[in-house]
Amino acid sequence: LSEKLDKALHTLKGHGKITEVNVAETLKEVRRALLDADVNFKIAKEFTKSVKEKALGQDVLTTLNPGQLMVKLVKDELTELMGGDTVGINLGGSPTVILMSGLQGSGKTTFSGKLANYLKTKKTKQVLLVGCDVYRPAAINQLRVVGEQIGVEVYAEEGNQNPVEISQNAIKHAKANGKNVVIIDTAGRLAVDEEMMTEIANIHKAVNPQETLFVVDSMTGQDAVNTAKAFNDILNFDGVVLTKLDGDTRGGAALSIKSVVDKPIKFIGTGEKMDAIDVFHPDRMADRILGMGDVISLVERAQEQYDEEEARKLQKKIAKNQFGFDDFLNQINQIKKMGSMKDLVGMIPGAGKALKDVDIDDDAFKGIEAIIHSMTPEERTTPAVINASRKKRIAKGSGTSVQEVNQLMKQFDQMSKMMKMMQGGGGRKMMQMMKG
Ligand code: GDP
Ligand code: MG
Repeated sequence: LSEKLDKALHTLKGHGKITEVNVAETLKEVRRALLDADVNFKIAKEFTKSVKEKALGQDVLTTLNPGQLMVKLVKDELTELMGGDTVGINLGGSPTVILMSGLQGSGKTTFSGKLANYLKTKKTKQVLLVGCDVYRPAAINQLRVVGEQIGVEVYAEEGNQNPVEISQNAIKHAKANGKNVVIIDTAGRLAVDEEMMTEIANIHKAVNPQETLFVVDSMTGQDAVNTAKAFNDILNFDGVVLTKLDGDTRGGAALSIKSVVDKPIKFIGTGEKMDAIDVFHPDRMADRILGMGDVISLVERAQEQYDEEEARKLQKKIAKNQFGFDDFLNQINQIKKMGSMKDLVGMIPGAGKALKDVDIDDDAFKGIEAIIHSMTPEERTTPAVINASRKKRIAKGSGTSVQEVNQLMKQFDQMSKMMKMMQGGGGRKMMQMMKG
């Protein structure tokens, strides 16, 4: 994907506005990326349509080129679709009852253990694990092994074939033994069937859980949507757990499930070990689905570094003719924070151009910094006072030559002139560019 997407984004560069033509090309690639990531076809189509509406006509007066802006739009929209923010679980009730649902092999038992461990260590809860998979004796054993591993008690009733009874007894047991969280692991089958649905519905009704979680294997892709829908129709569950994200699946199921059942994804499983659990971050999943973390991080770095406040202050100084060497140094530091000069020079409007014109590379900053540091505060704020003898002193202090000091003065001059030139409409443009 990334290569193709890069190409599509490349065609957007150089245009000042996002137009119908360049959007269409980019969105074609985005749609392909979504389908590659196993996002449902209809959802991918709807998604690209809504991004298109948002993108068209947006001015690209930012540090980002149109391609990067599209990436940002796509990512933001995707993040929003997956819920925007991280959603926690409801730990109310005494005890809190958490019910696991899902197909066999989806990772319920493993996740029950992970969640118990997570709650025990992160939230210092007293957890009781309950084994309700009465059909396979091995299932109870598996849960016992898990419990032992993490030091959490497991409640089970060998011989009792009634999961409703077992879970009710377990809650009594929890109350009598000072446990404040009860996690009920249930039986699943290889496909949705009536008996399983009736059973989980009965348990659900009997224990009235604070949290009913639907556990799904992220590698099942499209099927996951239908399964999620079937379970949601019966249980109206509270959240989704996406397991096995440690594989190379792109996790498009996350987007599809969220779109179809409109329930938050709360946790992800990233391995077989008990600590392989993480709360769900929609923005990270968006990166993963799009498979383009690099582009986005570059874009975001630029945005972070150029915070609005700085840009506004600078704007004021330029307006009042107070732009001095300290600001110049500040600009350079901003540029340096963002990474390599060569990659990023183009992103700094005005400053970038001025510096490019005089062919400054990363090393050249060292000399510049030394020279500016050798200036007195007065010289920095009012460069006009720097005469020949001061130049000599500055050169000596910074271990450079008078020519180098002269060169910097010239660069500084160019930059201030340019910034003044950009005052009218241009100044506003620059502000926007700096805000990102
Ligand atoms: P259940 O039938 O729903 O209880 O599923 P299990 O918890 O028994 O898990 C089925 C298989 O998937 C087991 O071999 C687990 O070790 C494995 N598994 C569960 N969660 C994860 C995960 O997040 N990553 C990986 N790689 N394997 C997992
Ligand atoms: Mg199990």
